[in-house]
Amino acid sequence: MISVVIPAYNEEKVVRECLESLKRQDFTGSYEIILADNGSTDTTAQIARDMGVRVVSCTHKGVSYARQTGAEAASGEIVVQADADTVYPTWWLSRVQQGFKAHPRAVAVAGAFIYQEPPWWAGFEYFIRVLGNILTILLLGRPYVISGANFAFYKKSFTLIGGYHHGAYSSDQIDIATRLSQVGKVFYDRRSYGSTSARSVSKPVHVVFFDFLRHLYGFAKNYFTISRGTTKKQSKKIVSISTGNYLKVVIPIFLIGILCYGYFVPASPVFGKVYYKSLTPNKVIALTFDDGPNEPYTSEVLAILEKYQVQATFFQVGYNVQLYPEVSRRMVADGDIIGNHSYSHNANHALSFVSYKDIELAQQTIYAVTGVKPHLYRGPHGKKSPWELEAIKKEGFVDVFWNIATNELSGKSPSVLADQIIKKAQPGGIILLHDGYGTEHNDKNADKSDTVTMLPIIIQSLQAEGYTFVTIPELFNIPAYN
Ligand SMILES: [Zn+2]
Repeated sequence: MISVVIPAYNEEKVVRECLESLKRQDFTGSYEIILADNGSTDTTAQIARDMGVRVVSCTHKGVSYARQTGAEAASGEIVVQADADTVYPTWWLSRVQQGFKAHPRAVAVAGAFIYQEPPWWAGFEYFIRVLGNILTILLLGRPYVISGANFAFYKKSFTLIGGYHHGAYSSDQIDIATRLSQVGKVFYDRRSYGSTSARSVSKPVHVVFFDFLRHLYGFAKNYFTISRGTTKKQSKKIVSISTGNYLKVVIPIFLIGILCYGYFVPASPVFGKVYYKSLTPNKVIALTFDDGPNEPYTSEVLAILEKYQVQATFFQVGYNVQLYPEVSRRMVADGDIIGNHSYSHNANHALSFVSYKDIELAQQTIYAVTGVKPHLYRGPHGKKSPWELEAIKKEGFVDVFWNIATNELSGKSPSVLADQIIKKAQPGGIILLHDGYGTEHNDKNADKSDTVTMLPIIIQSLQAEGYTFVTIPELFNIPAYN
């Protein structure tokens, strides 16, 4: 049996939605919902009772006291921490149970949370959270950034460690997870989430930033055991870091380096398979264009391709497809390939947990306009994250990047830029060019006349060198559309 414990103090505005989502669970085992009322003066407790939820009362103010009272009252073998301002997907409890089943050594299963209406910094915060946990799982064997709204543990392990430490820093998150990790494994399932509403989001951004620094400090304090001593000659205190601690500094820096490489370098395979070149020895090469359609340049590119009997792959921005549907339709008619390049071309796309929505919107737009569903995806700005790659793969996309590019915005002349591309050409290569600039149109950035001038030079030179232009699906022998 599972017991879900919700501490609540004056939550009448949000608690109903939370409890309804908990009552809708598809979990087939038995579970109880306990609301630990922390002295509410509004109708919170009454709402819960009316909904048939068991209410226990805890008059000692503080979330860890309420959670303790709830956990003590729980009759389940597993106690799940929830929050009143959070709404849970129907599969949530099933997922929690699966976490324990799949990890027999686990004493606790930690999940994530997302914002119902994500503020602008949510993507960044999410990135820090996940990155922090990836690092601490590698270093300490357990996640560090625990969500109080999505954390489950065995009641017997909880009792063994003496429950919550009320005075401790982050007592229902970092502290409880740290102490549980001393008696078993804390498993992190970042795909399990609840949607948190108003409260945390309504915090101004400097408070969020301060919280982040506070957590970082708390972590550093836990992580580095810095010994203080005094020398006899000098009465100054010195801080010495032992070799073990030195490694503790070097390893994270090394790992952060690898993660940055994976995130920023388009061709890096750190987070999983990406297509950025083919190993074929044949003199074939692929032209790819990003950020279109963007008129009149995209049509000019299409006319050049047609003149030289060359086909290319266009990673299109959904927003732009909506703007120039005729151009996208012409591509499909010409035999050029359309790939998905997100809908809004947001720079932090890969960081954000909700990014898949944007890709899906682009996919729907492309499908509605052209009747094809791209199989190829390229992230905006060539950035990627492990969770983005995972979502992409799950949705049946392949990630396509490039290995031949130049800085088209450097201001150099089109012939110089074309030359740089030609020099980098190699069998099986993928050339990156732009027929647009994000979602901008009719301004200086979106003026792609230089690309239009470069294109015939590139095509003529490489054809003279014996290259044949192919599309991405031809290069890798993969389907163009789903
Ligand atoms: Zn782009």
